[in-house]
Amino acid sequence: MSASDALHRFTVEHQAVRGRCVRLGPAWLALREHAVYPAAVRRLLGEATAAVALLASTIKFEGELTLQMQGTGAVRLLVAQCTHELQLRAVARFDAERVAALEAKAEGAPAFADFVGDGQLAVTLEAEGGARYQGIVPLGGGSLAAAIELYFEGSEQLPTAVALAADDAQVAGVLVQRLPQTGGRPVGAAGGADAPGALAAREAEADATLEASRAALAGLGPDELLARPIEDLLQRACSGHDLRLQAAQAVGFRCRCSAERVGAMLRALGEAELDGILAEQGAVTVTCEFCHRPWRFGAQEVAGLFGGADRPRDGSATLN
Ligand SMILES: [Zn+2]
Repeated sequence: MSASDALHRFTVEHQAVRGRCVRLGPAWLALREHAVYPAAVRRLLGEATAAVALLASTIKFEGELTLQMQGTGAVRLLVAQCTHELQLRAVARFDAERVAALEAKAEGAPAFADFVGDGQLAVTLEAEGGARYQGIVPLGGGSLAAAIELYFEGSEQLPTAVALAADDAQVAGVLVQRLPQTGGRPVGAAGGADAPGALAAREAEADATLEASRAALAGLGPDELLARPIEDLLQRACSGHDLRLQAAQAVGFRCRCSAERVGAMLRALGEAELDGILAEQGAVTVTCEFCHRPWRFGAQEVAGLFGGADRPRDGSATLN
């Protein structure tokens, strides 16, 4: 199976352990086509892109999931988003001088802690109906993969092992996760009543599987994560277990910016502020940070934002 731009879901047979594996090629290139990032920022952005796809694929929802890192380091802000249809976008804001200094000091691969500084990792789920859920954990653990593990452990109470890798052509991520044991047998297990102690035995078995996966993933270098065939990778991650692999799902880059979204942001700035810009520049132009598409709002469109008589319909803002 082609490994490009796909997400794979799998479960360990007869155990409450599941996994995800994502590999992106063309979508990764499309996602950062309009931005120029130093190598180390590119790598972190790629890892975050893989991570948000893994995260989104573990949750049942319709809407958008946002992974946001904010800290005192050279990368001040990193946002990666994934919809339930596995449409991705991501952007990073960074201090070019500090990144260059760190890259020079570390010969291209600054330590995660130096790079992001003190900060937090927020995971926000915005459902299409408007419901919002957010989990926040400190940015710790020495890598983005470790920070994601801490998020699952702390915010979701789901013990999880994660490995992430990115280079200029591809990103890859593997997640193995221990699910809560239910009173009954895991789905797919043979029937029959539980003997006393059977639940505890199954819990111990699933714990052992996860810890073995954690060790196996830690032993896989970024090059192997990026290059090994998916089946081979999963066999390494869950060695000795039968896996049930579902059909791969397509993952793609798509920006969700729209006149409506940009308009909502402009409305928050206030009419006086926008009128000032109009007087000075003749139009208010906003460039999407994710895809660099310029959105231009003229006097009429700005008036429309505030319920003016010439209120345009959605999507009527002109594109440069
Ligand atoms: Zn956009």
